[in-house]
Amino acid sequence: MEKIIDLRSDTVTHPTPAMREAMARAEVGDDVYGEDPTVNRLEEMAAERMGKETGLFVASGTMGNLIAVLVHCQRGEEAIMGHLGHTFLFEAGGVSALGGVFVNTLPNQPDGSIALSDLENAIRGADIHQPISRLIILENTHNRCGGTVLDGEYTRRVGELAHRHGLKLHLDGARIFNAAAALHVPPSELSDAADSVTFCLSKGLCAPVGSVLCGSRDFIARARRVRKMLGGGMRQAGVLAAAGIVALEQMTARLEEDHRRARRLAEGLFQIPGLQPAFGMPQTNMVFVSLREEIAKTAKEVAEELSQRGIRVGVTASKTFRLVLHYWISDEDVEETIAAFRAVLS
Ligand SMILES: *Cc1c(COP(=O)(O)O)cnc(C)c1O
Repeated sequence: MEKIIDLRSDTVTHPTPAMREAMARAEVGDDVYGEDPTVNRLEEMAAERMGKETGLFVASGTMGNLIAVLVHCQRGEEAIMGHLGHTFLFEAGGVSALGGVFVNTLPNQPDGSIALSDLENAIRGADIHQPISRLIILENTHNRCGGTVLDGEYTRRVGELAHRHGLKLHLDGARIFNAAAALHVPPSELSDAADSVTFCLSKGLCAPVGSVLCGSRDFIARARRVRKMLGGGMRQAGVLAAAGIVALEQMTARLEEDHRRARRLAEGLFQIPGLQPAFGMPQTNMVFVSLREEIAKTAKEVAEELSQRGIRVGVTASKTFRLVLHYWISDEDVEETIAAFRAVLS
């Protein structure tokens, strides 16, 4: 098979040989009965890394976020989130469709944050005309803002504000390990202010399937019931969790390599006359780059030509690409990608 350089997302990562080995050997049991030792171990390890009491293995990041919202909010209550947030844009409206939860979007700042003043102004009072504000959702790293990083200080200020008004804070930490690597802090430093946090095993960490939702024992007990309700109670899920354990043990410390390659890729692409940065230099593993005015082609057309050269990139707007670095992308692949863009645009 011809080699494909797949930069569309870090979700395209295949499990590592160590993961396949661990999956084959995994000890399993019925996880709905709480009897899968491998799932139990993954949940404990995840909770420890997030600084929470316990965790819940879920099928996807989307399911983790949905369960968190369904536990925190009753029907008609309001969840406040960024207008570029994954939960608002890319989760099929699940919180409203399945939870009857009212969504209030506030502008995401270029760094992925939501202004504290906007949050303060959005939270409702006791007026019976208004829905009850119940939850704030932050995203770290922030996907559509360029893979940007929120620091612990900002997250704590949002947590403090939420709690002062009786709201909860959920952190969509799909790529929290990338944020932690960029800031050189443990991920718990970025999640300690949140009442719940989800992170993905299936992105830069290379596991084939799954996310973990973490929080207090009481929160996770309720989340376990909601997961069952959604049809997400899995049985011998230890074969999947085994890969997740390898992800936590072996794959988090290397993420800085992806960030280094993202910077090199950005430098190379930004020097090509037809291209310009969409958001500036990457902070983590994502490079967003746009076609300049004078290029007549659309990003989709350019992506098609790149694909004929064995390079797959994401298209996020008519003139904008997203390229995501991950374990299966080497230094040579980065150079080949730069050369291919140069050739297609010359
Ligand atoms: C990928 C992602 C998710 C969850 O995605 P799944 O594909 O459902 O695992 C949630 N939030 C963010 C920011 C993401 O990038």
